[in-house]
Amino acid sequence: MKKHNYSAGPCILPDEVFEKSAQAILDFNHSGLSILEISHRSKDFVAVMEEARALVLELLGLEGKGYQALFLHGGASLEFLMVPYNLMKVNGKAAYLDTGTWANGAIKEARHFGETIVVASSKNENYNHIPKDYTIPSDADYFHCTSNNTIFGTQIKQFPQTQIPVVCDMSSDIFSRVLDFSQFDLIYAGAQKNMGPAGVTLVILKEEILGKTGREIPNMLNYQQHIAKESMYNTPPVFPIYASLLNLQWLKKQGGIATIEKINEAKATLLYAEIDRNPYFKGTAAVEDRSIMNATFLLEDEAHKDVFDTMWKEAGISGLNGHRSVGGYRASMYNALPLTSVQVLVNIMQAFEQKMNS
Ligand SMILES: *Cc1c(COP(=O)(O)O)cnc(C)c1O
Repeated sequence: MKKHNYSAGPCILPDEVFEKSAQAILDFNHSGLSILEISHRSKDFVAVMEEARALVLELLGLEGKGYQALFLHGGASLEFLMVPYNLMKVNGKAAYLDTGTWANGAIKEARHFGETIVVASSKNENYNHIPKDYTIPSDADYFHCTSNNTIFGTQIKQFPQTQIPVVCDMSSDIFSRVLDFSQFDLIYAGAQKNMGPAGVTLVILKEEILGKTGREIPNMLNYQQHIAKESMYNTPPVFPIYASLLNLQWLKKQGGIATIEKINEAKATLLYAEIDRNPYFKGTAAVEDRSIMNATFLLEDEAHKDVFDTMWKEAGISGLNGHRSVGGYRASMYNALPLTSVQVLVNIMQAFEQKMNS
């Protein structure tokens, strides 16, 4: 039986993406070849790459606005250092908002390249909220933030206004909600949270912000090289790109981001209402900063953990354990998770309440 997959990543994908991906492994486009054995320079794969890059910009409303979409290697973690490498001037500085483990990882890498100013941090409260009152230095080379904090279940709802380039790690909420994506100059995301399988990283950037650092940048780490080579500087991860394209096509068929956002909000509303109503559970994130992708919650009494864990596992739920730094539970409700799966979880939480009351 197919599980209700709440994994924080790699994520659930639509059934039709799994089916079409499986088909392409056996016979890609009736070519008599598997997608795993074709040349990345073949006409068929070049078409996949071009469509994927175009569809990313179309879905985000960034067509014709000077943006490039790239499919790269190395995960969001490599972007932690590619961003400063490509954007921080020699003797320059960068500004970072510290909202969680991943933001902190990005900050640590930036420090290799120059002065890294942390404009605000919620670390002392175990990242249970998004800091709001801070100033971004206008002489920094860029400002970096993390839109959704996968581990702590918080999400930026209102992005700061600034004249300097804005860089955003959107690994765990890209394509999940409507935003004015043109307020960002560079967006990156590891595919495996809400876009596709692990193994490829999406980078969307405005070309005009590049080439200003005065640094020598090695080719594989140089965005300008990847743009010039149309995301094929070296052999790209062919299969994860294809599966990501299938997922983006699925998203477009659903009605795009505006439609999926309504479904994501319905899922999050359903679950948070139960967390708040049910006396045996409590949420960990500040209410106004709650993520619609990753909901983090705890049992009021950890002594009943085994009972609850057995109940949700028996209901076919998978991947509900929280990250070790927060404990408790984390329900990751990425685009492909159906509302019916959230209802199953809510039913189990109510059944748990009844059991405790009896
Ligand atoms: C998972 C995650 C990362 C790390 O992604 P990798 O692709 O594994 O390097 C970075 N940032 C955020 C917000 C994440 O959720």
